[in-house]
Amino acid sequence: MRARIALAFLLVVLGAWLAPSAFAQSSTPSPIVVASQTYQVNFPQGMRFTLDASSVAPIQIVRLTVWQRGVALGARYSPSFVPSNRVRVSFDWSFQMFAEGGYLPPGTHGEYSWHIEDAAGNVYDTPHEKYTVEDRTKKWQVMENDALRVSWHAGEGDFGKAVFERAMLARDFLANKLGVQNIAPLEVYIYADRDEFFKSLPAYSYEWTGARMFPEYGVILINFDPDNLAWGLRTTSHELSHAILHAKIRGVLGDIALPLWLDEGLAVYNETDDHAPDEQMEEAYQAALKKDTLIPLRALQQRFPSNSSQAQLAYGQSYQVVKFMVDAYGEEKFAELLNIYQNGALPDEGLQQVYGMNQDQLENAWRAKIGVPLRDVSVFALPTVAPLPTFEFSSSLDATPTPTREIVPSPEPTRVSELATPPAAGATPAQTPSAPVNSLCGAAFALGGLVIFGVAKRKRR
Ligand SMILES: [Zn+2]
Repeated sequence: MRARIALAFLLVVLGAWLAPSAFAQSSTPSPIVVASQTYQVNFPQGMRFTLDASSVAPIQIVRLTVWQRGVALGARYSPSFVPSNRVRVSFDWSFQMFAEGGYLPPGTHGEYSWHIEDAAGNVYDTPHEKYTVEDRTKKWQVMENDALRVSWHAGEGDFGKAVFERAMLARDFLANKLGVQNIAPLEVYIYADRDEFFKSLPAYSYEWTGARMFPEYGVILINFDPDNLAWGLRTTSHELSHAILHAKIRGVLGDIALPLWLDEGLAVYNETDDHAPDEQMEEAYQAALKKDTLIPLRALQQRFPSNSSQAQLAYGQSYQVVKFMVDAYGEEKFAELLNIYQNGALPDEGLQQVYGMNQDQLENAWRAKIGVPLRDVSVFALPTVAPLPTFEFSSSLDATPTPTREIVPSPEPTRVSELATPPAAGATPAQTPSAPVNSLCGAAFALGGLVIFGVAKRKRR
């Protein structure tokens, strides 16, 4: 016992002796002094981070780290410089090249800091400073609140106001009716000119891209002319729904977490305040309904057809199923389902828990409602992962080079050229797009890679 008391006493004394010295060490100001740290954005080329620092011994190591929403982007960058007691170091972050930073959309907000070491072993990390990627090539008009910022460069104030208000309604529906909590602030940029829009996108973007969202950055870029307001309002709401859902569920848990038909169906459902169907999609749906050629729901769990009319049908049908779920079982149940998916349930598990049905059974409940023959499905032999769809894949799978070491958001380019360049009022119809799919949000297809989990992950277009 006496030995234990002695040991305890010794530990207390030792602790008392160590604690102040540890404290003293951490509170000693570093001899490394930062005169300035700045950044300059030159969108769409890149941004330059500059550090001016000095120390009692030659500064030998300088590394830059850039964060976005608390996640370090890419590597720590070590610009070359000649070691000296005073150094001025710059790193040119390229929005075009992965190896030198990589693409960041306008509207990205983040932080950066420098790590500095000198020859005497002194180390200093600068406090995090904020940066914002701004596109100064245009004179933007802005309307914003805490939740949303809409920027546009063509059209009058009424135009921006209309987009802002529609986007807020779409956001509020998800927040208030479907219980999506803690939605991060969103930025919407509307480019009126197609060339300017493409200059704002990452290299290798599809030529048919008409809108693109970056859920990790909370940014949506859309190309539409103020003359096409109706299309623009639908597209803005559609992309905003994706951006919110992907940031909360898909982007976090991967593609498997949320059935694609539900993701797309909800985006279409939320395009207008009255949740009215999209005309083109509705046409395809009605035709298939008459012929009883609707696509099995399970085939739309992970991919949509690449064939144009089948894709239209897939969207129209997905919308119908989502509408059925909300109408028949209520918004609360749908909110519950999203919540369960957010916590990591698989598509069938989530449906089973909330509705007591798997995808096939839900499909049959819907088919009964719309008056088409039920499908013969076995509830005892369910695949846990969707089978490959029977229709042909797109011939133009995503060819975008995949970075190998960077945490890159999976870009979500969306509607394609026909809608990307809708006819101006009174003009002749838009040109036929070169892409295989017309008029649709493209958040549906393709393969790519994402390094964040170190495994292949589907990239949608
Ligand atoms: Zn979509």
